[in-house]
Amino acid sequence: MKAYPVITAHGISDTDCNSPTHVSLKNLQGWLQDCNRNQVHFETLESVVSNKNKIAACLTFDDALSSILKCVEYLPSPGTIFVVTDYVGKLNRWNGQPSWVTEELCLSWTQIKELNLEGWCIGAHSCSHPDFDKCRAKQIRNEIETSKKTIEDQIGQKCSHFAYPYGIAPRIAQEIVEEYGMGGYGTEPGWVGPRDPLNCLPRIDIYDLVRSGMASDWAWSEPDQMDLKIMKYKRWVGSGLRNIRRIAS
Ligand SMILES: [Zn+2]
Repeated sequence: MKAYPVITAHGISDTDCNSPTHVSLKNLQGWLQDCNRNQVHFETLESVVSNKNKIAACLTFDDALSSILKCVEYLPSPGTIFVVTDYVGKLNRWNGQPSWVTEELCLSWTQIKELNLEGWCIGAHSCSHPDFDKCRAKQIRNEIETSKKTIEDQIGQKCSHFAYPYGIAPRIAQEIVEEYGMGGYGTEPGWVGPRDPLNCLPRIDIYDLVRSGMASDWAWSEPDQMDLKIMKYKRWVGSGLRNIRRIAS
């Protein structure tokens, strides 16, 4: 198996500013053109296979927000959505959602089924989007098992992929994902390589790809260990600053 990048996005915005949760349609289109120039082609998590000539990348959308419908016609191939099953067709205001995150509707089951018919892969992202570090094992099991089963009942296909809410993947959650034979996706930066554990796979955030800088070419150029260390350090500093601001406010 060749290494490949799995890219995380959330919503699509009309305005030209990118936030950690929303990328503008214009910037997404520009980035897709860069990918095309660099011979990246796109696959779903179900269909990703080693390709001798081109780099296969997977574009995944966490939370299954309705704004992703703005970009569907511009994507070169279907993507993957991770559905929060209790919030299908509802606003994305689950407990623990930071107040600065843009409020919007999640896709309905009708819309999810239409995407699936067009070749999109439907993965699970829990029932209620909890922080697994604050959950007991029983609740974690229920969140993983019920969201998987709900999707399978709705679309009539096996649900084989799980994205950990907030990217938080304690060992017990990883064990349950493995027990159900699913691929598990976090938010640690990096390409998926042959030695990565299937229940805790790295991804690259589109927020880091559409800005100029260290990660902007990671869709076609695999980051080295030093790149990944620098990215982890930057994220650690960023989360520390956010906590300080929260305490101060
Ligand atoms: Zn999420």
